[in-house]
Amino acid sequence: MRYFRPARVYVKEEALKYELTDEMVARFNESGIPVEMVKRVRSTFDGTPREQFFEAKRTLVLGVRKKTPLQGCRPSANWQLPFVSGCPGHCHYCYLNTSFGPRPYVRVYVNVDEILAHAEEYIEVRRPMVTIFEGSSTSDPVPLEHWTGSLSRAIEHFAKHPYGRFRIATKYDNVEPFLGLDHRGHTRIRFTVNSKRVVGSWDKATASLSRRLAAAKKIAQAGYPFGFLLGPIVMYEGWENEYVDLVTSIADTFTSEERSRMSLELITHRFTPKAKSIIESVYSDTDLPMDEGERVWRYGQFGYGKWMYPRDAYDAVKQVVQGAIGRMLPQAKVMYLV
Ligand code: SF4
Repeated sequence: MRYFRPARVYVKEEALKYELTDEMVARFNESGIPVEMVKRVRSTFDGTPREQFFEAKRTLVLGVRKKTPLQGCRPSANWQLPFVSGCPGHCHYCYLNTSFGPRPYVRVYVNVDEILAHAEEYIEVRRPMVTIFEGSSTSDPVPLEHWTGSLSRAIEHFAKHPYGRFRIATKYDNVEPFLGLDHRGHTRIRFTVNSKRVVGSWDKATASLSRRLAAAKKIAQAGYPFGFLLGPIVMYEGWENEYVDLVTSIADTFTSEERSRMSLELITHRFTPKAKSIIESVYSDTDLPMDEGERVWRYGQFGYGKWMYPRDAYDAVKQVVQGAIGRMLPQAKVMYLV
């Protein structure tokens, strides 16, 4: 099983009054991981930009999530609800490269009850309509769950809620903490998967594709609504056959009943100028396609621009990937293609 073991843990002063901090510090002490109380997190490590980036990703910070307005999360949910930000993974194309920059510490928010109470205010505004919260918009929180337990708390919280729903997405297989929970079908757990070339070349420090599929099978057998994010879909030479193979592997893993609980989200590759400059300095040997000449410039929901595939590429994805889904996974629901 692939999960995160930090090299060091910094505990910020404001986190000290929360019970989860004590619980986590006890776990780190037992595991021999050094813990330091700090007023501010050191802003740099020694070494090259790559070494500093890697050290930051091995550093866990326990802090408190301030009560600021929740951000929207189209098209997968109504609102973002992070319990973690940052990720120990090293996917070259990672969307976090734009938001976290050159020192991507992994941060855990220990005020879980306050975060859930904040979500309650947003549910009240929309009720009796259901409000959906995304727990993976600023991180992959699953490789930290055995330290934090915060996703499990959220799953049990939303299980009892008539108007709140939760969802998470992951590239890890550390799903054991979720299997025995009373989720009542209110949390959807999705696995981000990709073609052989993408997983082999540009997904690093994550679980292998076969382990993600095996973890998804366990989640399906535990009765959760579940699904797959196919993304980022990268259009390299020969992409068509490899994405059809991916859909075939998914179809072969699940029963017809399980497929009827499956959602599929299709996300094409895009990058920002900031992400490209970080990728080129940290993963300097990458051959991830990022040629602006083959892309079009568009502004997204958070106001910054990115390089996306042109319109005809979406038509090709629709034809190849959605076509394969229609043939092999007719019971699954395609939520969107972006
Ligand atoms: Fe980024 Fe997800 Fe990879 Fe983590 S697993 S590095 S969040 S793309």
